[in-house]
Amino acid sequence: MKIYNSLTRTKEEFIPLKPGHIGMYVCGPTVYDEPHIGHARSAYIFDVIRRYFEYKKYGVTFVRNVTDVDDKIIDKARKELVPESPGPRVIEKTKEVSEKYLRLYHEDMALLGIRAPDKEPKATEYIPKMIRFIELLIKKSHAYQADGDVYFDIKTAVEYGKLSNQNPDKMESGARILPGEKKKGPMDFALWKKAKEGEPSWDSPWGRGRPGWHIECSAMSSDILGEEFDIHGGGIDLIFPHHENEIAQSEGAGKKFAKFWMHNGLLTIKGEKMAKSLGNFISIKGFMAGYKDADLLKLLFLNTHYRHPVDYTEEKIAGMKAEKERITIALDKMKRAEDQSAPAGAKGKPGKSEEFRKKFEEAMDDDFNMPLALAAVFELVNEANKNIEDAEFASAAAKLITEIASVFGLKICFQGEISSDVKVSIQMRNDARKSGDYKEADRIRKELLGRGVILEDTKDGTIWRKKL
Ligand SMILES: [Zn+2]
Repeated sequence: MKIYNSLTRTKEEFIPLKPGHIGMYVCGPTVYDEPHIGHARSAYIFDVIRRYFEYKKYGVTFVRNVTDVDDKIIDKARKELVPESPGPRVIEKTKEVSEKYLRLYHEDMALLGIRAPDKEPKATEYIPKMIRFIELLIKKSHAYQADGDVYFDIKTAVEYGKLSNQNPDKMESGARILPGEKKKGPMDFALWKKAKEGEPSWDSPWGRGRPGWHIECSAMSSDILGEEFDIHGGGIDLIFPHHENEIAQSEGAGKKFAKFWMHNGLLTIKGEKMAKSLGNFISIKGFMAGYKDADLLKLLFLNTHYRHPVDYTEEKIAGMKAEKERITIALDKMKRAEDQSAPAGAKGKPGKSEEFRKKFEEAMDDDFNMPLALAAVFELVNEANKNIEDAEFASAAAKLITEIASVFGLKICFQGEISSDVKVSIQMRNDARKSGDYKEADRIRKELLGRGVILEDTKDGTIWRKKL
């Protein structure tokens, strides 16, 4: 299979370092605010990629970190403190804030049906390992101390700018050293920050302080996945400076680091950046409260290539609702055809449905082309609708769609049984139609609609489905 590597800016053949096993590291949340649907996209894309590897029978170790100490979290803690009143101060409040928003993140991922990572390291649990990493960088002359801070010296990085495709000399000429910063070069970045009064801090060889953001991912990824691992992922906004700096640190420490870099495109709302200040912020819980169905958001994401930006609008979500119904209705028909006429031995037997599996796999093997892979599902739906009397095909098609839905993490499933009184009503309506009493037939149809059952008259008779 081929994967687009952001590092080489080409699609490359993907061969895992260890046969049969894949190590993936994806940058996780900084826990200081409510998770929004932009977070959902990154988490979902990498969840699908992980599930597809597993579908292909690979073992996967999936790591996603949590940044639980950071300027943003401390700022939030300060804002939430009531001045002059007793109660927790900044240090305790920072812990409270990070725990609260990590809990919300976990809740929201569960709400969306996005699987938890195999390992979820927290920055605050990695301080000693980060300190050792920084010591190594100082020893190798890639880092220097300056009055309790430690900086990475980017002049010592062999290929700084290679991921973000920038020339370090040009970057340097556009950067400034801010007043109070004690670094040598304007592009040098902090590995360790000297403690500020009343803020969370830890002991280190350079005095009390806390780690910079970038160092945690270098320390955690190599600790859990090894000096070299298969895939490092994250949003495209992390390429610079975060991922560029991770490479400088890890290569500086003598590690081979990630083989493939994968980046998902960002999400906009009606063409604008999502921001609380713009009033267009959509939290995951807000979305779920309105639509009650994570599949609609997932279908929106599947319909755009993961590397491209995706624009969210309510009209598009309405379109996704129609797409989901097409699949659900077709699946229901297939299941019924199977129950009614497929001989027991023919159930789920692969046949001509396999040609659609091939299309699905070819699309996914080509840098996870999810829109094309989803199109294969709709082609299969069309084919099955046209040949619904072929019970063997219907049965195999239903099985394949369910299998693909599980790679996509979609909850699409069979609708189950209806109660016997609904069956009686349907029969009464059929009788009314036969005797030409269309008024009565229409009354029953409306009554059932009120109970959440939709009737559809087809040339083969009346079928029902539950309202989604
Ligand atoms: Zn990271």
